[in-house]
Amino acid sequence: MPHDTAKTRLTSQRGELVAQLAELGASETGDLGGEVDFGEGFADAAAATAERTELLGIIDALVKRLAEVDAALARITEGTYGRCANCGREIGAARLEHRPESVHCIDCKAANAAV
Ligand SMILES: [Zn+2]
Repeated sequence: MPHDTAKTRLTSQRGELVAQLAELGASETGDLGGEVDFGEGFADAAAATAERTELLGIIDALVKRLAEVDAALARITEGTYGRCANCGREIGAARLEHRPESVHCIDCKAANAAV
C-alpha cells in the first residue's frame, strides 16, 4: 500500500476515533470532562459503577488505538513506516492493508502481546 494511501486511511481513522471519544464525553487523551452523568435510569449505585467501568474500558481501548494511529502517522513522516519498530523487518503488506496502524511485524506482535 502506498504511504500516501496509508496516511489517508490513518488520518480518517484518527478522526473517527476522536469523534467516538467525543461522543463518550472524553478528550483525545481519554480524560472525561468532570463526572459523567448517567442520568436517572440507574436503580442503584452498583449499576452506575458497572456502567462507568465499562465506559472507561471502552475509552481506554479507543485511546490506545489513537496512540497506535499517531505512532504510525509519525513513522510515515519519519520515513520508517512499514518497518517493524522492534526488529526492523518489513511488516507484511497484507498486515498493513488490514491494520494500517501496525508498527510491529506479526512475529514481534505475537512474541509480545504488549507490543
Ligand atoms: Zn518485528
